[in-house]
Amino acid sequence: MEKISRTKVIDVLKSTAYGSIVNVKGWVRTRRGSKVVNFIALNDGSTIKNVQIVVEIDKFDEDIIKDVTTGACISINGELVQSQGKGQTVEIQCREIEVLGPCGADYPLQKKGHSMEFLREHANLRLRTNTFGAVFRIRHNMAMAVHSYFHEHGFFYFNTPLITASDCEGAGQMFQVTTKNLYDLKKDADGKIDYSDDFFGKMTSLTVSGQLEGELGATALGAIYTFGPTFRAENSNTPRHLAEFWMIEPEVAFNDITDNMDLAEDFIKYCVKWAIEKCQDDLEFLNNMIDKTLLDRLHFVLEHDFVRLPYTEGINILEDAIKKGHKFEFPVYWGVDLASEHERFLVEEHFKRPVILTDYPKEIKAFYMKMNEDGKTVRAMDVLFPQIGEIIGGSEREENYDKLIGRIKELNIPMKDMWWYLDTRKWGSCPHSGFGLGFERLILFVTGMQNIRDVIPFPRTPNTAEF
Ligand code: ATP
Ligand code: MN
Repeated sequence: MEKISRTKVIDVLKSTAYGSIVNVKGWVRTRRGSKVVNFIALNDGSTIKNVQIVVEIDKFDEDIIKDVTTGACISINGELVQSQGKGQTVEIQCREIEVLGPCGADYPLQKKGHSMEFLREHANLRLRTNTFGAVFRIRHNMAMAVHSYFHEHGFFYFNTPLITASDCEGAGQMFQVTTKNLYDLKKDADGKIDYSDDFFGKMTSLTVSGQLEGELGATALGAIYTFGPTFRAENSNTPRHLAEFWMIEPEVAFNDITDNMDLAEDFIKYCVKWAIEKCQDDLEFLNNMIDKTLLDRLHFVLEHDFVRLPYTEGINILEDAIKKGHKFEFPVYWGVDLASEHERFLVEEHFKRPVILTDYPKEIKAFYMKMNEDGKTVRAMDVLFPQIGEIIGGSEREENYDKLIGRIKELNIPMKDMWWYLDTRKWGSCPHSGFGLGFERLILFVTGMQNIRDVIPFPRTPNTAEF
C-alpha cells in the first residue's frame, strides 16, 4: 500500500480538498451495503463522527474485504469526494485497504446498546464506544478548562504530595503505604506497630486532600491550585464516590468566604461554558442518547446566579417542608449532617438551581475552618448541584494560631507531625480560603452520565481494582 501521511477523521470531515488522495486509519464501526458497493463507517477517536468509506467491491480482493468487520482496525487510501448521502458532506472513495488488526466475531462489543454494567466489565474496550469516546474527550477538555481558568487568573499550579504522613480530614479513610512485610509484623508492648524501620520511618498513607500543603503554597505564592489524584478508603458504594478520584483545590491568600464563593461560582461557570463551546458534537450526542435535558441544564447553570444560603436557613426550609407533609428518610434538625435527599430537595425542588450552603455547625466540619462570631458555626461552604449533590466543599480557614490549636485540642487531632502546618499561623499568618472540587463530579454534571464509575477511565471502588 502506498505510504501517505495520515489525516485524522476530524480534519478529513472539515476538508474541502475534493479530488485529493488521503490516508485515514481507524476502527470499523459498521460495514453495510450490497455485493456491488459497501459503506464503511470509520472512527479514529478524534471526533464522535465517523467518516464514510465507499468501497466498490469488484476492485478489491475478497479476502481483504471479509476482514473488514466491526471493531477491525484498518488503513485506507482514497479520494476525498463530496458526499451524495445524508448526514455528511465528504466521504472517501476507497483505492487501497489494509487491515492492520482484524477483529473476530468474539469481539464483545459487536452490537450497540450494551448496559453500562456490561461496559464497566469491559472497561478496556468501552473506550471505543461512542458514549465513552464522548465522555473522555469532554474529560480532557475539562482538564484544559481547569488549567486555563487558573492560569488566566494568576494562580500557580502547585503539586502536593500523594504520599503523606498527615491525616487532614480525620482517621479511618486512608490507604496505608508501607514496604513492611505484612506476613511478619512486629508490635510493641502496647500492640502498636513500630514504623521506625518502615520506608519513611513513620506511618504514611495516600492523601485524602492536598489542602494543608496547598495552604503553604497560597501563603507564599498568593494563589495556587492543585489538580491531582486523591484517595479515600471510604466504603461507600454510591454512584458519587470513588476510592481514587481527581480533585481540584484552589487556595487563595486574603480571600474571605464571599470571595471563595465568587471564585467557586465563576470557575464552575467557566468550565461549563468551555464545554458548551468546545465539545458541541459530543454534548449533542450525549444529549440525544443519555440525557435529553443535558444541554438545557448546562445553559440554565450559566444563566442563573447560585443561591447563597446559611445552613440554619436551609434547616428551616426543610423543617417547613416536613410540616407541609414532605417525607424524608432521614431526620432533620439543627446540627444534622445533611443527607443527599435533603441537599437535593433544596436544589431540585425548593430553589430549582445550584445552592451554596454556608455557615455549618462546627461539629460537622473540619478543624481548620474559621469560627464565626456565634461560636457555633464555621465559615464553611458546600456547593450543591442538581442531580449531583455536593460538587464542592470549602471554607475560609482559621488563621488565628490560638483558636486553631484550641480546635485541634477539642477534637483530639493527632498533630505531632503537623508543626509545619501550624507554622503558617505562627509567622505572617493571613486570612485565606479555598475549596475542593471533585473532578469526576464536574464531569458527571457536564456529561449527564449517571454513575461516577463511567466518567473515569478505570474506576477504583470497593472490591474493584481491575485494569
Ligand atoms: P461527600 O459528602 O459527597 O462524601 P465530602 O464532604 O467527603 O463529600 P470533601 O472532603 O469536602 O468531600 O471533598 C471535596 C470534594 O471532593 C467534594 O465536594 C466532592 O466533589 C469530591 N469528593 C469527595 N469524596 C469523593 C469521592 N469519594 N469520590 C469522588 N469525589 C469525591
Ligand atoms: Mn464536603
